[in-house]
Amino acid sequence: MKRVGLLGGTFDPPHLGHLVVAVEALDQLGLDEVRLVVANDPWQKSDERRVTPADVRFALVERAVEGLSGVVASDVEIERGGATYTIDTLERLTSVEPDTSWSVIVGADAAAGLETWHRADELRHRAEFVVVNRGDDERDAPAGWRSVRLSIPGIDISSTLLRGRVADGVGIRLLTPDAVIADIDRRGLYLRAA
Ligand code: ATP
Ligand code: MG
Repeated sequence: MKRVGLLGGTFDPPHLGHLVVAVEALDQLGLDEVRLVVANDPWQKSDERRVTPADVRFALVERAVEGLSGVVASDVEIERGGATYTIDTLERLTSVEPDTSWSVIVGADAAAGLETWHRADELRHRAEFVVVNRGDDERDAPAGWRSVRLSIPGIDISSTLLRGRVADGVGIRLLTPDAVIADIDRRGLYLRAA
């Protein structure tokens, strides 16, 4: 069976933290592939601030994974459209790729909120969850979720931090690949604080 990890996110923009999580999951768990799954409409976020259009975030993720073997960008949630629910994504992927086993990778902050995800009671039976520390945040999945811990060198950065730095005219070199920075600059993204 092929083993694939799914790292879902808004990726507004993608950054080194996301990439380290993906590579550590690949290497430590011996996965065949990790897909960065770009949320179409991150409904838990989109009420709070203006989220960059999904096709633009997907383009940034494609730049971010260039040359990183085993890590790919996925637009499966953008193709489906509408609000993004991981349970729908898993159902879709399972039907298209029945011979793959799926691990859902989440940072500690996301893990702590799993019970708030759409159809949480079904979701927790649907896949294995890989919970990664985020910086020194080591929160785990709630009781009753099939999960494994993945310990990585803490990278304490976020998309929020990068957006703020761009808005403030501060550089983001090394916090995300140069190709991502070039695309952010070319499109004029994040120039005003969200
Ligand atoms: P924002 O600041 O806009 O919320 P973010 O940096 O949290 O952005 P998301 O796209 O929300 O990025 O995160 C997608 C997934 O990646 C989540 O499961 C999140 O916990 C995880 N993640 C993001 N950054 C890190 C990091 N630095 N270390 C570990 N996990 C991370
Ligand atoms: Mg976040």
